[in-house]
Amino acid sequence: MRETKSTCPYCGVGCGVVIESEGRSIVGVRGDQDHPANQGRLCSKGSSLHLTAAPELAQQARLLQPMRRLQRSAAPEAVSWDAALDDVAARIANIHADHGPDALGFYLSGQLLTEDYYVFNKLVKGLLGTNNLDTNSRLCMSSAVAGYKATLGADAPPACYEDIDLAGCLFITGSNMAWAHPILFRRVEEARARNSQLKIIVADPRKTETAELADLYLPLQPGSDVMLFHGLLHIMLWEGWTDSAYIARHTSGFAELKQLVREATPEQVSRVCGLPVADLYQAARWMALGGAEALDGQRQPTLSLYCQGLNQSRSGTANNAALINLHLATGQIGRPGAGPLSLTGQPNAMGGREVGGLSNLLSAHRDLANPEHRAEVARLWGVDAVPAQPGKAALEMFEAAADGQIKALWIACTNPAQSMPNQAMVRRALERAELVVVQEAFAATETTAYADVLLPATTWGEKLGTVTNSERRISRVRSAVAAPGLAQHDWQIGVQLAQRLERRLRHGLPSLFAYDTAQAEAGAEAIWNEHRESTRGRDLDITGLSWSVLEQQGPQQWPMPSGADSGVKRLYADGRFATADGRATFDVQPWKAVAVRRDARHPFSLNTGRLRDQWHGMTRTGQLGRLFSHVSEPQLQMHAQDMQRLQLQSGDLVHVSNPLGAIALPVVADAGLQPAQVYLPMHWGSMFLSGKSSKGLRLAGVNALTTDQRCPRSRQPELKHVAVKVLKA
Ligand code: SF4
Repeated sequence: MRETKSTCPYCGVGCGVVIESEGRSIVGVRGDQDHPANQGRLCSKGSSLHLTAAPELAQQARLLQPMRRLQRSAAPEAVSWDAALDDVAARIANIHADHGPDALGFYLSGQLLTEDYYVFNKLVKGLLGTNNLDTNSRLCMSSAVAGYKATLGADAPPACYEDIDLAGCLFITGSNMAWAHPILFRRVEEARARNSQLKIIVADPRKTETAELADLYLPLQPGSDVMLFHGLLHIMLWEGWTDSAYIARHTSGFAELKQLVREATPEQVSRVCGLPVADLYQAARWMALGGAEALDGQRQPTLSLYCQGLNQSRSGTANNAALINLHLATGQIGRPGAGPLSLTGQPNAMGGREVGGLSNLLSAHRDLANPEHRAEVARLWGVDAVPAQPGKAALEMFEAAADGQIKALWIACTNPAQSMPNQAMVRRALERAELVVVQEAFAATETTAYADVLLPATTWGEKLGTVTNSERRISRVRSAVAAPGLAQHDWQIGVQLAQRLERRLRHGLPSLFAYDTAQAEAGAEAIWNEHRESTRGRDLDITGLSWSVLEQQGPQQWPMPSGADSGVKRLYADGRFATADGRATFDVQPWKAVAVRRDARHPFSLNTGRLRDQWHGMTRTGQLGRLFSHVSEPQLQMHAQDMQRLQLQSGDLVHVSNPLGAIALPVVADAGLQPAQVYLPMHWGSMFLSGKSSKGLRLAGVNALTTDQRCPRSRQPELKHVAVKVLKA
């Protein structure tokens, strides 16, 4: 039996795994004792990874050869790799020539590896000359990115996992980390067991398993986060709990913020957020002072942990920034146990951001809007220029395809026909595009049904490269078994497409993509080295982090510049931030209500999110019966009072609708919800809810209902709230 160290492909905790394999089969998996993120532990999803890779399941579920259909009404037929890639390269080149580069759109995934991302970013922005490259990280972490940049100057989570052990107060908001980031939550439970003085505050409209651990639970109304954070700052100012010396030395813009939060009185915040005034005072005190009391005149440290509850909002950037404002105003940043720490949804949303894998970013945290940054990246890539025209973010890309402006959509490792909001628009886009190419490991997703060309990709256990987790830690992903069928690594597919396009667009010039696709380890390492060099002098400088260092020293946190012995645990310890003048900036944004408010016709707030044992669209976790023992079917969770009023019993079928769409599914009472709020897991799409109900209603996934209203700064949609009507079906 062979053992291979790699990384779990699910959430952003980034746990290390040891894969046990025999020949071409993965037969076991266990937590890697040496990996700092998990120290040998795995959650229910991670510990069943080997079962999802069983050859018999793979044979049923995997896409094993390139497929093409010549007409939309025809069934796809198997073709060779050369035929598939020659065809798509020719069609992309024709669209490029006839309609210009901005008629092309590439939609990627936070589950791709850094090397995959790098190649596609260079291909799209460097070779094709469009910035229409975005990823499903837009639905996940783009508000966290914008929040960090607006306040601290760079997209760099300043704290680390060890800070959970050192904090005097943990403020967990917009995150059910007990289910979504379980191994990190074990660390919170251990901190609680070890330190009886530790104060845990949880702010969430739902009383989740995470909230059960709280000393203070704040069941705020959906979308009232900015009001809560402004209200806490108002109290801190009134009570003298801010750190005026830190504010004066290391920040700018506090006077404007102080003026804004003057109106966020405890009474006003209590009314908007639905929280008792006394709880607001308690939360403000613990957050500012780091727990019960300051010791010896020193504040104890406060660490904030947060996720999609802040990000997936029309106020996503303001939510993130208003929370970071609190850390800056109290000096709770840049020291052990303190700081804001966003929990990354996907395994490599961080790595994608590092290579510039969003429509407004460039390599190594450079900004597309900055002409010097564009020139630097053009030089690094060896191209004349990177286009200045901003690319389309995820939803805009699909809207442009639905309008006929974008003619070709290339989709890699993601399932927009299930996971994006406003499914009616997304499906119109997929139908209208002249060319839809889907690069996937799994054969039957909602999106593969729309593909003109399907390209088989490798997945966990087969892939190799690197990923970055929520604490900036870069880990190796290693291949334990050979790719099944004709599947290829995502970066290899990108390189072969690029080389074909170069023959048409840069004929006679040296290739920009001279990576060795025949030797996967060497090819991926060459891509890594190019990415590594692009970070020189940047905030995430990893010029000291070669693959041989990763091999010898294990996973490392960035930055790790050339000559450094190891990475950096926490940032901004010296009080200098990544802004032009070194001062952090207070972000001054007023509170705004949710985009689609409840009214008499749609009186329920619908919230969406994860279950403990499922992952995204269930292409992998949905293969295993054991992962359905926690929750076996999609159910609408509702408060018992509302069920009584609607004369509903648990198990009754309900019709949930709003102007965007309608679905039908069973209802169940949930004591964690407040009245007028309902909750539906995100995992079941129309594939898993296909067919018709006994009442003749057509069933589909939750995103038949979710809104495409988005944050104007991060362009992340408000997946966490929409108003719906619920009727007995
Ligand atoms: Fe995988 Fe996340 Fe579970 Fe760790 S916590 S084993 S990374 S799903």
